[in-house]
Amino acid sequence: MQVKCNVLDRQFQMYQSEYEAAALRVLRSGWYVLGSEVQQFEEAFAKYTGRKYCVGLNSGLDALILSVRALGIGSGDEVIVQANTYIATVLGITENGATPVFVEPDAFFNMDADRLEQAITDRTRAIMVTHLYGQASNMTPIVEIAQRHHLEIIEDCAQSHGACFGGKMTGTFGVSGCFSFYPTKNLGAFGDAGAVVTDDAAFADKLRMMRNYGSKVKYHNEIEGVNSRLDEMQAALLSVKLAHLQELNEERRMLAKRYSEGITNPRVILPGVREGAESIYHQYVVRCADRDALQKALEQQGIQTQIHYPIPPHLAGCYARLGHKKGEYPITEAYADEVLSLPIYTGMTLEEQDYVIRRINAWT
Ligand SMILES: *Cc1c(COP(=O)(O)O)cnc(C)c1O
Repeated sequence: MQVKCNVLDRQFQMYQSEYEAAALRVLRSGWYVLGSEVQQFEEAFAKYTGRKYCVGLNSGLDALILSVRALGIGSGDEVIVQANTYIATVLGITENGATPVFVEPDAFFNMDADRLEQAITDRTRAIMVTHLYGQASNMTPIVEIAQRHHLEIIEDCAQSHGACFGGKMTGTFGVSGCFSFYPTKNLGAFGDAGAVVTDDAAFADKLRMMRNYGSKVKYHNEIEGVNSRLDEMQAALLSVKLAHLQELNEERRMLAKRYSEGITNPRVILPGVREGAESIYHQYVVRCADRDALQKALEQQGIQTQIHYPIPPHLAGCYARLGHKKGEYPITEAYADEVLSLPIYTGMTLEEQDYVIRRINAWT
């Protein structure tokens, strides 16, 4: 049997007629960028997250970059970020000339709140929290520390659409909730797309200007903006998927539960969920001291797995200039050597999953 890491067309087939109707509507409308479809999606997504405003953008990376920029954070400023996040989170900081300050993750792969405060200096302006793999971070202490030090919170929710902490949706704990709708995300488009959600009207306004060359009124460019507009096609398709997001997340939770109950190999460490937190299982990530051998064994049996992520940002070639050394963030580096993401996706059959579980349990 062959089991891929992700099979994107299964979720298309599930709602095919709805997607096709939405696509045709856009094609026939004669209006393709920033129109009524974008506005409707923004309203629906703001409502879904429980925020006042949503600003549709080109990508998740743009949501991060523009959030940092709209807060006036740049050269000479520091932004705290967890060390085991995806490179995009860190690029959101460095694209603005600000300096990332890394914090080790906790047992749930998210920012370790107990190590947060010691990373704060008099240059710190914001804390960037990634709800990695779909699990909400430990927001009670993080929010408390941010408030005490007058720091902004920017949440990277690219993997956590719909995940809550203490019953509150990720993306609603700070000024900015940054979302990616890259096709593989839980709420994925059919191309690139992203968004910011916020309750701050002035912040939302600024982002709306920034995404469209810095202008509110055409050709009146008040600030130096970019082109990060969301197009009508992606917005219309996202509206279709958003209406099903809850059931899609439920499906992943069901699959994750089956993995957690089914995998009994003592060499494989299963992911836990923090009390008060929820996961939407963007990834189901196990740890294994002999990870590369496990990955290879599974590959030989037709099972594709992935590593999120093999090289932590502080050791990435692009950040050599920051001067970090191997051994500086030992927990992060151990995770990079041990994590393995098992196949989990919309439309995964129980037969496919049982095959993965059997092969893992048979591995010695
Ligand atoms: C996917 C992802 C991003 C970037 O989103 P794009 O839409 O690909 O730009 C940022 N952060 C995290 C944690 C991601 O998983």
